[in-house]
This record gives sequence, C-alpha cells and structure tokens, in this order.
Amino acid sequence: MQHQRSITVVLLVVIFFAFSFSFLRYQANNGQQDTWFNTHWRARAAERPLIRWALGLHQAGDGRSDYLHPARSEGFPVRIFLDPAVVIPNGSIEAALPEMVKLLGSGGFDIGTPLQLTSTKETYTSKDFRRLAGQASKMDSIQTPVDIFVLTKDAVSPTQVGSSVREHGIVVFMASIQELTPESNAQAALVTSTILHEFGHQVGLDHLDEPSCIMAAVVEQPVSTSWAPQIVPTQYCPEELAQIAAFQKVK
Ligand SMILES: [Zn+2]
Repeated sequence: MQHQRSITVVLLVVIFFAFSFSFLRYQANNGQQDTWFNTHWRARAAERPLIRWALGLHQAGDGRSDYLHPARSEGFPVRIFLDPAVVIPNGSIEAALPEMVKLLGSGGFDIGTPLQLTSTKETYTSKDFRRLAGQASKMDSIQTPVDIFVLTKDAVSPTQVGSSVREHGIVVFMASIQELTPESNAQAALVTSTILHEFGHQVGLDHLDEPSCIMAAVVEQPVSTSWAPQIVPTQYCPEELAQIAAFQKVK
C-alpha cells in the first residue's frame, strides 16, 4: 500500500514537471513576444546555459548576459562567414568594433579570418540563416563569439540590409546594400551600421524612434525613397549606451 502510494506521488511529480516544461517551452518559442514567460522570465532564464539549452532559448537577446557578464567581457572572437559571391568593403567590420566595446563598457573583440561558405545562394530564408548559425554555434569556441554572416539578400524582404540570428549571430545582406547605393564609402558605412544595429539587438536593445540612432528601424530596413546613405549612423547614441548601462546595473 505504502509502496503504491509513493509510486503515485513520483508519477504525479513527473507529470507536473513534464507539463510545466512543455508549457514553458511553448511560451518561449510560439513566436509571440508578449507571453507570460517572455515578459517575466525569459531574460533571467536565458542567463543560465542549461536552462537556455533545455527551453530552446535561441533568439536575439537571449545571449545578452554572455556579452554583459563582467567575467566574460574580454576578447570575444568575431567569426566571419562569407557567401562566396559577395565582398566585404575594406575596414567596414573593423570600424564597428570600437563602438561595440563602447556599448559594453569594457572588453574587446578579436576578428578572425573570414571563412567562405561552400556555395552561394541568390536569396536566404530565415530558416537558411538559422541553420548556418546553428552550425556555427557547434564550432569550438571557449569565449562567446560574435558570428557575422555576410550573405546576398533576404528572401522575404529584399530591401532589408540586416538581421539578427540566434543569440550570437548577425546577418549582413551585402547584395541589398550594393543595390541601395553604388558608392563604396556609403556601402562600408551601411555594413558598419548594420553590424552595430544587430549587435544592439543581441545585447537586448529594441528599436528607437530617433532616426539618427543606430537602433532606428530604418537602419535595418532603409526606405530608399526617403533615405540618404550619408546620414547612416555609425555610432551608438547616448540613449542606447544608457540602456545597456542600466541593464548592467540591474545585474
Ligand atoms: Zn532591428
């Protein structure tokens, strides 16, 4: 009798945890930003690697604590993955790095030799770049990386110049940038601003209404009719730096 009762208790506990776990996983990954879990718990849950893994927390911003953690804030490797049909404007990635250091308030970035992807694609779906980022996340890295994928175009939104992918990835759509402007300095500035914008998402920043700030939606999705390449911001504005400083204070 005693034995049967303890089996029942164990079973109930197992069912309870299985149910809670499925519920949390669903709330985390059903595509809605404003679920109870995402609003109240996601940021804290994502700080713990085991929970992040178990609940499948692999969206932009889930790696925020990896970048803002004081003990891990030096020498993040920057790994570049290049579609073989595109060329990165000289110095455009390097130009983003001092601003990224400024945003984090410390640390540094070590840029690696670009790795070429084995084949080119005319356009990439979000599934394509999630797959690339998933493969990159399995590569050995002692430190948290910043993975930059320089690709051709987004399949759904061909004027979009960038996207964040998983929790450590940045996509730059180089063919879309080249279509926006033939001018090489403007192309380089756009690569820099795109990297800074997507890195902003990865450390937890949302869009801002101010068009002269890196986190303006127009930086990621330039509207060709009302947009001039020479005004693209390549430095974080004070609001953005203040938001990250506030995250660090909360920790
Ligand atoms: Zn954005």
